Amino acid sequence: MSDGGGAARPSRMKARSDDPWLSVHAIAEYTFCPRAGLIAYENRRADPDDEPPAFDTLPRFELQAVEAEIAQQMKLLFRWLWAMLVVATSSPISVYLKQYWYLVLAGVAMIFITWQSLSVLAVLQELHRRRRVLLESRSAEPDPFHEQMQPVNWFGLLNLGFQSQVVNEPLRDGVWNFEGKPWRLLIRGDLVIPVFRTRSAQESPREPQVAKCMAYCRLVSVVYERECPYGIILTGEDYSGFAIPYCEMFRRDFHNSLVALRHLVQATGYGRDTEVDYEPRKCSGCHLGRPRSPSSGERVVRFGAPVPVKTNRDGMHSDCGDRFEWEPPYSD
Ligand code: SF4
Repeated sequence: MSDGGGAARPSRMKARSDDPWLSVHAIAEYTFCPRAGLIAYENRRADPDDEPPAFDTLPRFELQAVEAEIAQQMKLLFRWLWAMLVVATSSPISVYLKQYWYLVLAGVAMIFITWQSLSVLAVLQELHRRRRVLLESRSAEPDPFHEQMQPVNWFGLLNLGFQSQVVNEPLRDGVWNFEGKPWRLLIRGDLVIPVFRTRSAQESPREPQVAKCMAYCRLVSVVYERECPYGIILTGEDYSGFAIPYCEMFRRDFHNSLVALRHLVQATGYGRDTEVDYEPRKCSGCHLGRPRSPSSGERVVRFGAPVPVKTNRDGMHSDCGDRFEWEPPYSD
């Protein structure tokens, strides 16, 4: 299968049998900084944007989960109300039996039950608000032939008839040798659209995120054997984001990073060291250059073994500093 565009060069994209398997995360990191891409490849760490469909995130993004949670909270509320009724009706009996100590106990119990009931009511109020947002959200459907980013809304897309599907296993492309797992797929008819969320709130997606989105589009087109006109990036904790067209202009960074990272991995393999490019201006906010104490966090590894820690004057070290034996110019 070609990469879906006439201008792309399938010959350079196609992997040989001994080429390394890359992850979408490492390719996106390479787009940010070659050193970050190599560290992501060598350490095979989970993508921090990857989020399993955990209990606390589901009610924010799925109508069924919101409704299931509402039913659960209603049951809890009825339990507390039932407990309140039992305490209230037993109090006159204790007076009749002259068991006045029970009234003190009942008073404390009533305060506790009231507090619990109010907490459940607050949760219910928030869940109903989310349900209303979910049902009332509107979004224009992205034009599959448009070659610019288009704003979208997650719930608006669901209301257009897209079904959300969790991806359990990474999607794999055995022609270009890379794999990755989008956060969700949106499916309607023949359309399969990859979606991922980035935790950083921002006005528009950055290059590494666009590269990641394009990589997911390619994986969907290979695995599901159909055209994938765009991918979606949801930004921050909001329900809104962007549809990124799977066109040459946006695919370029993904293609270049995949090929360059493949070559870099080969050039640095088998213990051979090589100069790896970086742009100092990017180090100031890079989490891989952030100094930390040697006792905290995971050590970076190379060839399966932790690399020696390279501490600075203050006894701190960083992942990039350890891997490339230097002190990145990090600043908060
Ligand atoms: S600290 Fe600088 S050189 Fe190292 S990965 Fe980050 S941006 Fe790249």
